[in-house]
Amino acid sequence: MFKNPIFWVFLLIITWLCMKNKIYKNGQTLQLTENFNLSELHSKDGSDMSAEVFENLVKLITKVQKLRTESGLPFKVNSAYRSEAHNKKVGGAKNSLHTKGMAIDISAPIGTELREFLLAKRENWKGGFGLYSWGVHLDIGPERNWNA
Ligand SMILES: [Zn+2]
Repeated sequence: MFKNPIFWVFLLIITWLCMKNKIYKNGQTLQLTENFNLSELHSKDGSDMSAEVFENLVKLITKVQKLRTESGLPFKVNSAYRSEAHNKKVGGAKNSLHTKGMAIDISAPIGTELREFLLAKRENWKGGFGLYSWGVHLDIGPERNWNA
């Protein structure tokens, strides 16, 4: 069997499929950038995340880290990845970018220094920027901005 090249090709394909579908367990910690850990970005209902969601979160948080560094202020993450079920439960928009790991909600209530800082950066954010009373929604989808 081990001398048969088909066996090795088969093994390679199986290995590749397993790696491709790698799951990041809910609660798993991993320092992604200087100030953000994967543990802050998990779906709040305990769901695991796919490799695809994880890769999106890395892209997103790399951009968010730039703002974090520039501001010098702590960022409290209200919500980042949401499983489809959790998104539905919290009344998120259908096909929300949160379900793809492409969006993050940062707490920055009215009257805070962080809110003023983020508002000043609004024009430079190449993605979605939604302003709410509790803070700011940032995503790496198409460029849009709105006030809730
Ligand atoms: Zn959001």
